[in-house]
Amino acid sequence: MKTSTACPKCSGQITLWHGLRAPTPFRIRCVRCRAKLRVRLPGLTAAFAMICLLALVLGGYLGCLIVMRRWTEAGVLGVAVLAGWLAFELVGGMVLFTYARFTVVDPKTEAMQKTQPVFSRAKE
Ligand SMILES: [Zn+2]
Repeated sequence: MKTSTACPKCSGQITLWHGLRAPTPFRIRCVRCRAKLRVRLPGLTAAFAMICLLALVLGGYLGCLIVMRRWTEAGVLGVAVLAGWLAFELVGGMVLFTYARFTVVDPKTEAMQKTQPVFSRAKE
């Protein structure tokens, strides 16, 4: 398992910390050359969707506990969710750095894909 990867553009190191700060696992920005990188890994979208669903369910349950003023359970669940999320981010980051392919996103290509989403999907 790797905890960092080299930027395909400037070969600067991208570490787990930078991965943690990215809002989604699909895009990451190189801190050195500011290049946008696309993360490619089979099953990543499905895994991310499942995690989001799980987070939503746990978040909803946590909200219920708070509404019912069951502070002990809410506190325990809150800490468990936070710890689980942190562990997931760390493990997920290591999995990405080990198995995923990072490609530089060209702003021009990206603009094209936004206007022609069907075309770009058919190409892949
Ligand atoms: Zn770079």
